[in-house]
Amino acid sequence: MKITSVAAALLEPWPWVLIKVRTDEGLVGIGEAYHGAGVHNIAVDPRLTERALIGQDPRNVDKLFRDMKNSMSASGFYQGAVMSAISGIEMALWDITGQALGTPIWQLLGGAFRDQIRVYNDCNEGDNADDPLSWAAKAKQVEARGFDAIKFDIDPRPTQRDRYNRTIRNTDIAFFVDVVTAIREALDPDTDLAIDAHWRYAPADILKVAYAFEKLDLLWLEDPIPPENIAALREVKVATRTPICTGENLYTRHGFRELVEQQAADIISPDLAKAGGLAEGKRIADLADSYYIPLAPHNICSPIGTMASCHVCAATPNFHVLEFHHLDNELWNSLTVERDLIQNGRIDLPRGPGLGVHLDEGVARAATKQDVGGFYA
Ligand code: MG
Repeated sequence: MKITSVAAALLEPWPWVLIKVRTDEGLVGIGEAYHGAGVHNIAVDPRLTERALIGQDPRNVDKLFRDMKNSMSASGFYQGAVMSAISGIEMALWDITGQALGTPIWQLLGGAFRDQIRVYNDCNEGDNADDPLSWAAKAKQVEARGFDAIKFDIDPRPTQRDRYNRTIRNTDIAFFVDVVTAIREALDPDTDLAIDAHWRYAPADILKVAYAFEKLDLLWLEDPIPPENIAALREVKVATRTPICTGENLYTRHGFRELVEQQAADIISPDLAKAGGLAEGKRIADLADSYYIPLAPHNICSPIGTMASCHVCAATPNFHVLEFHHLDNELWNSLTVERDLIQNGRIDLPRGPGLGVHLDEGVARAATKQDVGGFYA
């Protein structure tokens, strides 16, 4: 079997990037790359397709992953938009391989530890951002829809004194504590609550918040400080009982190595549509497992990337919970032929060959802003 073409589609309004890999035997694989400027164009760039993919056997997934990296070695090959494009193509190669062998991808990754993938819903903030009870009401609504894990954001308030020095004023700390306490008290004690700080704070300042959160038994506090300094993050992690989660801005096992080896986070959150795809996601998970660190993948993908991530979540002993961002986005629910993939905060593990779900071509085409390489050919 040989690869004959690679195509990509950029959707709207949410800029999902879908990837198609075609073969000379008629099998077509689909994947999703983390969105970003030009990612759909990178995926069909001849330096990737002509040098590494066209004419090659798509079932040699790991070899082609290496070849794609090497072919882009002068273009920041190990991170950023290039690695996002490579990640989406890698997913499509697994889809082809699974179809060719008549087996789901999770089977090829070592087999399943679980039949269902637990999903948490990202709620962002309350409908009235200034009212803690509004945040709590939103949490209750999402919990009533079956989710037993929920996340909210504590981004800098409009009242922040200076957005460049990363400090938090006392009234804003008090507000964050009021909001998160209100949410926590509204939820069932066994519903997990995570809080995301989006890299915006200084260690000493976010620690004041983390200390106040300790009695609330959070699932985690995510990205408390900027992502590029592992030593600083480790200082935060060891200083508080509130679990610390990070990882959505890291790429490949090499990007996670220092974070894991320094044990600078309690939970890691790689985004499999940018960090290197499915096999690389499994390697990152295994690296983390050697330090007993659970995996909670970041995910804002369409159902294609979400379901691809589920295969890694199934085949990973230390999987904890998978992110979900599109609760009332009708396009998310209609983009695959299979509908209502999330039931009671869980996704049933696909049983069919390859990815196990199928793109609704008509829905995708109607939502396509730009396609390259003959995505709908
Ligand atoms: Mg996040």
